[in-house]
Amino acid sequence: MTDRPPQYELYAIRYATRDARRADHFIGGDPHDGPMPMDYFLWVAIGAEKTVVIDTGFTKEVAAQRKRTFLRDPIEVLPQLGVAPAEVSDVVITHMHYDHAGNLERFPKACFHIQEKEVQFATGRYMRYHNISHSFEPDDVCDLVRLNFKARVAMYDSPADLAPGIRLHPAGGHSLGLQFVSVYTARGWVVLASDVSHFYENMEAGRPFRTAVHIGEMMEGFDALYRVAPSPQHIVPGHDPLVMSRYPAARPDLEGIAVSLHASPH
Ligand SMILES: [Zn+2]
Repeated sequence: MTDRPPQYELYAIRYATRDARRADHFIGGDPHDGPMPMDYFLWVAIGAEKTVVIDTGFTKEVAAQRKRTFLRDPIEVLPQLGVAPAEVSDVVITHMHYDHAGNLERFPKACFHIQEKEVQFATGRYMRYHNISHSFEPDDVCDLVRLNFKARVAMYDSPADLAPGIRLHPAGGHSLGLQFVSVYTARGWVVLASDVSHFYENMEAGRPFRTAVHIGEMMEGFDALYRVAPSPQHIVPGHDPLVMSRYPAARPDLEGIAVSLHASPH
């Protein structure tokens, strides 16, 4: 008897970027300040039985408001990987920050998988404080609430298998109900850290990103990534431009747009 789950192809799609400095990315700033740009991604796991989209990016309009460089509509890249957004049955929302939870209406048949704590956080009492609420778009939060009234949101309060080979792991801190996702691939379990670690350096140096609600939980989040991943090479940070250079392009024509995370990094 084997309990090996089905294998997925796993891709990161880069859809936006911004110029930033090292001091922008670490609590307490950084004594060696210099440029440290940030990329924006969503991810898709494609299996024989099931396709799961992980996070949904933001829109061109939100990019303009927030002065992010919008490279491409991330949802429009999915068909280039053989995925029809209108047919996707399952979408994981790692957390409700604007850069992870826009475009929900572009998945008209999907169930959205999220931690219950994140929904409570995004609709709860702390949103009166700009320091916390500025990472959220109220329209995204309202969209999710409406979807819940249509029975299209699945909420979790502990680690869970969305499907064989797709596992959800709550790891709050950056946002109270943040979760990361592990996906079974040809090279074993690959861990999509999302914002548990924005950059490789956050987890490697044990230095949390500046947007923080609970620093202790952020530190425990780094531990959880290393515990779940078969090796550090199996962890994919949520915003690091290095992801695009460490992994091979999904196809030659998707160079700079999508990379294969089921392939080994170099
Ligand atoms: Zn975030």
